[in-house]
Amino acid sequence: MSELNQLYQRVILDHNKNPRNFYKPDGSNRKAEGYNPVCGDQITIHARLDGGMVREIGFQGSGCAISRASASLMTEAVKGKNRSETQTIFESLQRMLSGAGFESDEPGGLNALSGVRRFPVRIKCALLPWQTLIAALDEKAESVSTE
Ligand code: ZN
Repeated sequence: MSELNQLYQRVILDHNKNPRNFYKPDGSNRKAEGYNPVCGDQITIHARLDGGMVREIGFQGSGCAISRASASLMTEAVKGKNRSETQTIFESLQRMLSGAGFESDEPGGLNALSGVRRFPVRIKCALLPWQTLIAALDEKAESVSTE
């Protein structure tokens, strides 16, 4: 395993073990639930939007290491971002997981998920928190399923 892959592995294990923002922020005004039946990942995203910007974000639920690490990294990546900035990061992540390189260094932490593309079945695990967040921001769906 290359040094970079080892670093990414450590980031994922760390975020799985000590997920950031694993809570429901006070004053949350956006919420959605996501479910990935292939893996059994369940996630609830809570966010507090203010002036169109994600001020606080947290998640709850249970899932595999990839989904938890992705959710944890996501909460760090989107804080202070608006809806379209969040969508841009999400699309970059989707491109990265479909085999393209990550187009920007920012947010660097998400690069740790690049190894997931070698395991196509786990890509849904990595994308679930993002799909759920977008649903929460759009207030379109209370729940999201990857199937
Ligand atoms: Zn999973």
